[in-house]
Amino acid sequence: TFRALLTEKGADGAISSSVQMLDDARLPEGDVTVEIEWAGLNYKDGLCLMGQGGLVRTYPHVAGIDFAGRVRDSSDSRYHAGDAVVLTGWRVGEAHWGGYAERARVKGDWLVPLPSGLSSRDAMVMGTAGLTAMLAIDRLEALGITPGSGEVLVTGAAGGVGSIAVALLKRLGYTVAALSGRPQHATMLTELGAASVIDRAEFMAQPDKPLESARFAAAIDCVGGDVLGKLLRQIAYGGAVASLGNAAGIALNTNVLPFLLRGVTLAGIDSVMQPYEARIAAWARLAGLFDFSAYADNVEEVDLDTLPDKAAQILRGEVRGRVVVNPRG
Ligand code: NAP
Repeated sequence: TFRALLTEKGADGAISSSVQMLDDARLPEGDVTVEIEWAGLNYKDGLCLMGQGGLVRTYPHVAGIDFAGRVRDSSDSRYHAGDAVVLTGWRVGEAHWGGYAERARVKGDWLVPLPSGLSSRDAMVMGTAGLTAMLAIDRLEALGITPGSGEVLVTGAAGGVGSIAVALLKRLGYTVAALSGRPQHATMLTELGAASVIDRAEFMAQPDKPLESARFAAAIDCVGGDVLGKLLRQIAYGGAVASLGNAAGIALNTNVLPFLLRGVTLAGIDSVMQPYEARIAAWARLAGLFDFSAYADNVEEVDLDTLPDKAAQILRGEVRGRVVVNPRG
C-alpha cells in the first residue's frame, strides 16, 4: 500500500481531495514504478486539484504533473531499481495518475534520469517551472536575443516560472525587468537579479496605442491575456516574446503592427510534449546554471495534507516562488 492524495468527484459533482492509503493494485498501467521523493506544485496542479480547466476527465484521480524519486521496479530495460528519475509533463497528473502519492507507475518513455549534480528535491524546486523557463530562454536565444540586445521583461515574475526565469536570465548576463502584480515581492525579485520591478497595475494603466515606445528586446510571458497584448506593443525592432502561460487568461487582444513594423516574433513554448533529447539538454543546462542556494528562500515545503489549501492559493496568484511537495511528510 501507499499514501496518496486522492481527488474524487462527489455525486453532486463537487471535487474534493483527501489523503488515503491505496493498494498497489490500484496503480495505473505502466512499465516503471517509482517511489516518489518530491513532487512540485504548479499552476496546472491547482487546476487539476480544484477540478478546473477540464484537465482531469476520470475520477478518482491522483494529481501532480511532476515528480522525482527512485525506481522501485521496472520492465523497461533503460531503468533499474534504485535509479534516480524525474518526470515532467506527458499529461501525467492530468490524464494519468501523477506525483501526489508515495508511489507512481508510468511509462519509461516519460522519464529522464535525474540530472547529475541535482538532488530529487532540487529537481522539484525546478520542476516543470524551471524546465519551461529554460526552454523559453533557449528559444529566445535561437531567435537571436543576447544580453547585448537590451532589457528582457518577465511577467508573472513572483510565481514559479517567472521567478526562475528572472534568476536564469540574470545568471546569463541579461538585464531583467520583472513585472508583478504584487509589489510587496519587489525585494525578492531584485535579490533574484531583476534590475527593475514594474507594477502590473501601472503597466496596464499606460494608455494603449497600436505601437508603444519600444522598451524591451524580448519577454518571457507567464500570464497571457491583456498583459501579453500590451507588452507585444513595447517590444523593440527584431525582438521576440516567449508565450508560455495563461494565469491572466487565454485571450490575446493585440494587433499585427509589432509583427509588421518591428519584425517581432511571438514564440509559443510547450514543456509537456518535449521529446527526450530536448528534455535532457534543457535539464543539463538548468542544472549547470541555476543557483539553488540563492533561490532557497523562495521555496516552500508542503505535505499531502496541506496541499489542497496551497492549490487554492496558487490559483489565486498568492504563491511566491516554488512549492515542493513531500509525499512522505
Ligand atoms: P504561478 O507560480 O502561479 O505563477 C503565475 C504568476 O502569474 C503569479 O505568481 C502571478 O505573478 C501572475 N498572475 C496570477 N494571476 C494573474 C492574473 N489574474 N493576472 C496577471 N498575472 C497573474 O504558476 P506557474 O506554475 O509558475 O505557471 C505560470 C503560468 O505558466 C501558468 O499559466 C502555467 O499554466 C503556465 N505554464 C506553462 C507551461 C508550458 O509548458 N507552456 C509550463 C509551466 C507553466 P505576480 O504576482 O508576480 O504578478
